[in-house]
Amino acid sequence: MAERETFFADVLLPVPMRQVFTYRIPFEFNEQIRSGLRVLVPFGKNKLLTGLITNVHQKVPKDYQAKYIDSILDEQPIITAKQLAFWDWISTYYMSPIGDVMNAALPANFKLASESKFCIHPDSPDPDSLQLTKREIEMLDLLRVNESCSTKELSELLGIKTIQPYLKKLLDYKLIAGSEEVRERYTPKTQLFVFLAATFQQEESLSTLLNTFEQKTRAEKQVQALLQFLQLASEAGGLHAPVSKSLLLKHDVSASAIQTLEKQGIFEIERLQIDRFDLQSEDTASFKPLTEIQQNSLAAIEEGFTRKDVCLLHGVTGSGKTEIYVQLIQQHLDLGKQVLFLIPEIALTTQLINRLQKYFGQLVGVYHSRFNQNERVEIWNHVLNNDPNKFRIIVGARSSVFLPFADLGLVIVDEEHEASFKQYDPSPRYNARDAAIVLAKLHEAKVLLGSATPSIESYYNALQEKYELVNLHERYKGLQLPSMICADLKREKKLKNMQSHFSSLLLDEMRAVLEKKEQIILFQNRRGYTPIWSCEVCSWTPRCQHCDVSLTYHKHSNMLKCHYCSYTIPPIGSCTACGSNRLRMIGFGTEKIEDELQLIFPNTVFKRMDLDSTRSKHAYEEIIDDFSQRRIDVLIGTQMVTKGLDFDHVSLVGILDADMLLNRPDFRAYERAYQLMSQVAGRAGRKEKQGKVIIQSAQAEHWVLERVMAHDFKGFYDVEIEERERFFYPPFYKIVQLTLKHEKEELVNEGAQYLADQLRGIFKERVLGPEFPIIKRIQNKYLKEIKLKIERGAPDKKVKARILQDLDVFFQNVRFKSIQISIDVDPM
Ligand code: ADP
Ligand code: ZN
Ligand code: ZN
Repeated sequence: MAERETFFADVLLPVPMRQVFTYRIPFEFNEQIRSGLRVLVPFGKNKLLTGLITNVHQKVPKDYQAKYIDSILDEQPIITAKQLAFWDWISTYYMSPIGDVMNAALPANFKLASESKFCIHPDSPDPDSLQLTKREIEMLDLLRVNESCSTKELSELLGIKTIQPYLKKLLDYKLIAGSEEVRERYTPKTQLFVFLAATFQQEESLSTLLNTFEQKTRAEKQVQALLQFLQLASEAGGLHAPVSKSLLLKHDVSASAIQTLEKQGIFEIERLQIDRFDLQSEDTASFKPLTEIQQNSLAAIEEGFTRKDVCLLHGVTGSGKTEIYVQLIQQHLDLGKQVLFLIPEIALTTQLINRLQKYFGQLVGVYHSRFNQNERVEIWNHVLNNDPNKFRIIVGARSSVFLPFADLGLVIVDEEHEASFKQYDPSPRYNARDAAIVLAKLHEAKVLLGSATPSIESYYNALQEKYELVNLHERYKGLQLPSMICADLKREKKLKNMQSHFSSLLLDEMRAVLEKKEQIILFQNRRGYTPIWSCEVCSWTPRCQHCDVSLTYHKHSNMLKCHYCSYTIPPIGSCTACGSNRLRMIGFGTEKIEDELQLIFPNTVFKRMDLDSTRSKHAYEEIIDDFSQRRIDVLIGTQMVTKGLDFDHVSLVGILDADMLLNRPDFRAYERAYQLMSQVAGRAGRKEKQGKVIIQSAQAEHWVLERVMAHDFKGFYDVEIEERERFFYPPFYKIVQLTLKHEKEELVNEGAQYLADQLRGIFKERVLGPEFPIIKRIQNKYLKEIKLKIERGAPDKKVKARILQDLDVFFQNVRFKSIQISIDVDPM
């Protein structure tokens, strides 16, 4: 670039606007500037924002005087041209501002936003060994005194506007770090542990102790506690081994018994630091040789990839899809390529991640938006630099599609049907599965979609020969799929065979299984105790103040709670509408099921797995671990238990309320119901023996149930696809959903009607609504939806540009300025 020529740069800013901004490049930057670098630019009155250069050119902006770029933050681009193209696609296809896409794509550390807080790095090197400027030393001193400061505070304290370059340098030197991640990473996690006092750690003294104990019959509880402790300690390595207090409590040892034993000098209690859950496992394993059938599927996929870029592997639960993935991954590693392995939710996939890490060790990197920033940036850099020895395989939830892949060869989307691949809020509302296909195209990479219950869309694409289709209809070792039985609730009720919500069929089966010391999974898609309280006299139910929903009772906390905004109140004694005190509970959630079953099976260990019981960071892994070690007999859970779990001793699965799944007012209700039921059924009988599944339903003849029971996905698909075509739904039509939000109901109504009429001018009968959604008020805002159904094959870009144009016109209306509109393309 010539030294004295005038250049402009298009800069992408983290603001929710649909355009890039053009800035003038000071001459002295002419040599350095290029796409992918971060720069600081003035924005608004006196703000400086970190932005990203997307383009350098000589087109003078027509409508405004371009401001100058303030400074350059990077020597090397932090994102690639392919990423920019990918962002652009997301932004256009999902109709979301490009600034939002950048926000979602970049780790927070890269953004140096003004609210970001920093502190001294706990393992910082000696600053004297580094060449620091006066400013940087001043900044370090400030942070030493103040512990934690935001970008904005630092800039004010130092009296300089342009602070980001210094911050960046100190971050690069690891002299400072983001406060948030330091707290997360360096606060040690501790737990109370119980030890056997040293004097009793000899066999002799211990047996004396036990003898004296047994003579004192009153101390029964303590004897039990001690015996339980001894068992757990011996499992953990011997009499000297510590046992965590919470584990003891879980095994029905009472806190008071522990306390008494401590007072008597038998137990000692100490708070110890525990290792955080470490995904990096030490042991390794070699691949399992594929069976002939698996081998054939692998060959079919390989062959398919010579014709098409996307292949759908429809393999029943337990058919060994993971073992096939592993082989494909190895092939692409051998070619020197990077691999992206997309999974619906990291937290729910620890079993799978462990398996991959055993096979590939250091080559696996786990990426998740909730991981701390240092880890994310580390993975980011390895992927960008195409490091040959580390993180060649990225296992990640949806946000990992934004990593700066240098040479991507293969994308695997496991459980491709999962709704959690779709981002709801905030924008961009992208589907990571679909975005991954576009990403792969940019890299000329292959995509394997895998599922036992493919999405209707993907299966349709496969039958239309847009994708290759490979079927794997046999479980590993020819093991049979579980036998399926429907407990007809209408009939059971008539015969008075119901005990609370449980049919005798289910209870008898549970009894038999528990006697054989085998395990059970029960599925109920509803957490809490009972969904609602209701007045017996007038049917009134307590509702959330901010949302249009009933409150759910949580027994554990003895509170009524809103699942949309967490609004919480104590239970109400009498009906607010009629004053009657006859309030009763209707419906049932996981918590209540646990309580009731505990009464029926007093000696059985139950455990819930739902959002409430897995809130703490490691709760989920603990439950999985306890269940696989058979410390839990019955796992009761929401849809969390349907996903990919692989246990050896589950011989019975119960689906407690199939009707709730079937009756949802949503065009995907049957698809979801089929998927959930088949997936949870797939947890039964995965080793050696055939498992059993009992489905409780009052609609025993429902066609979807029949297909589920017959393990007949194709039969289900054939009926469902006809319905979709008849009623203009995906995959034949694409849906764009506009949701208007405002505190004032009349304004939302008026605005929505206006906008719908305006859209009808062009899109005619393709516009549906406006309508209130099922829940018409959330967090004090009224919602109204307009849906557009656009034929598959219509010119996508044109359609969307036109909708955006209409929105612009809409917002020129002063009255409507304060209405929020969110756009959801391909809602799930
Ligand atoms: P899917 O993902 O299709 O549900 P998995 O890959 O989890 O199935 O396999 C189910 C079980 O069978 C796993 O425990 C797995 O280790 C085992 N398995 C599958 N294929 C093989 C094989 N070829 N050799 C040994 N074990 C296998
Ligand atoms: Zn609420
Ligand atoms: Zn009442």
